[in-house]
Amino acid sequence: MNLSEFFQKAQSVPLQKIDHPVFHKAGIELIVRRDDLIDSELSGNKFYKLFFNLNAAECKGFRRLATFGGAYSNHIHATAAAGKRFGLETIGLIRGEENLPLNPCLADAAAWGMQLEYLSREDYSQRYNPDFQAYLSKKFDAYLIPEGGANVEGAKGMQVAGQALSRQLNDDFTSVCLACGTGTSLAGIAAGIKEMQSVYGFSVLKGDGNLVQDVRQYYRKLKIDCDKQDRKSLPENWRLITGFHAGGYAKKLPVYLKQFWQEFETETGILLDPVYTLKLFFGVYCLAQQGFWKKGSRIVAIHSGGLQGRRGFEN
Ligand SMILES: *Cc1c(COP(=O)(O)O)cnc(C)c1O
Repeated sequence: MNLSEFFQKAQSVPLQKIDHPVFHKAGIELIVRRDDLIDSELSGNKFYKLFFNLNAAECKGFRRLATFGGAYSNHIHATAAAGKRFGLETIGLIRGEENLPLNPCLADAAAWGMQLEYLSREDYSQRYNPDFQAYLSKKFDAYLIPEGGANVEGAKGMQVAGQALSRQLNDDFTSVCLACGTGTSLAGIAAGIKEMQSVYGFSVLKGDGNLVQDVRQYYRKLKIDCDKQDRKSLPENWRLITGFHAGGYAKKLPVYLKQFWQEFETETGILLDPVYTLKLFFGVYCLAQQGFWKKGSRIVAIHSGGLQGRRGFEN
């Protein structure tokens, strides 16, 4: 299967309804879009965010990709998998020092042929600096993809996923919930579905930094490209929810979250990752208990994958 065929196939992932007393009581319906099932190696939103980046690399004549990430990065993992699958060389620019033996994430990446280059924390902090980027791109003769696949190309891939979701459900849903790191996926999905539907991004980061501005920038760019006109006021059908980060990227999860994790997996058979989707589903449940969702809501939660991150995580 070539890249475009794979992208096509990925759009029709299964939808799964979750039955749970909490949702019955709240009078809402929860449907999970199983983007974790796209593929065993190339799962979730990271593949969508890579698709237009891979196209752009090809258009510019690059056979090699380089990208940034921490040692547990789903984006590094997905980039390595995509490189192997679609015949591109990959370089992982990894934050911090080399630690041997490699953790499961980097071991996969290396086994799939990714060349691992370690950047000091100081160098890594320069990852958004255009001069540093140009230097790296030249040094490795590689097309540079930002950390997390966070650029307009990345958002555009998620816009296609949003459009696919609209078709799958014939627009018969009220809102979409997803886990939010850089906000690229939130912007893409919001631009892909209809304006009367809303998207809730559950932030996994403690401080939000420029998250809202970043989402807005991608969202506007995608909408304006679609409409081919510069609308003065764009209705914004998305919102950031910040109360469920459970301390941010910290590895230690509070006991209540671990309990929820186990119960959810046992009840639904859907596995979650500790960094993103666990916090998303916990947030959706809590809000249901609090009566946040209007009765009759039909909510789609996007399972954005990331299950490789379960490995080595103490349960
Ligand atoms: C990267 C990632 C996210 C966050 O996506 P953004 O586009 O950066 O907001 C959510 N879920 C999973 C599983 C991820 O790997």
